[in-house]
Amino acid sequence: MEHFYDRSYQYPGGLDKRFDMYLWATQGFPDIGGCGGDWGQRLSDNAYLNMLNGVNVHVFEHELGHGFGITDFYGEEGAIDGFPPGGFPEPTIMMAGNSAEITNYDGWQLRYIWSKIKNQTDSNGTRRFTE
Ligand SMILES: [Zn+2]
Repeated sequence: MEHFYDRSYQYPGGLDKRFDMYLWATQGFPDIGGCGGDWGQRLSDNAYLNMLNGVNVHVFEHELGHGFGITDFYGEEGAIDGFPPGGFPEPTIMMAGNSAEITNYDGWQLRYIWSKIKNQTDSNGTRRFTE
């Protein structure tokens, strides 16, 4: 949160072009699992330290996926929070226990989301993103 409270910080491209995500290491937070969103990723301080030894890096990668807009797939086949009938074309890190690494399908999801938002404009009609 280095720049969050610094009102004088000049974001490259201006304030409306900023995209911040925070690594939030929390003492006392459960060492298994975490949470993530467009604000960043929150895991326990121990979880972040264990990642230095390669332990459970996939949990952070999963939470980082939320930062880029990819959803969870925790439900059963066909459920609103589940996976599509017949399953995914290949494993995804966004479904707990399905993959311990980022897959080509996760990359496809990220490119799909980008294809849907890249031409968005703000209330003034100015494109929010530049390629
Ligand atoms: Zn999740």
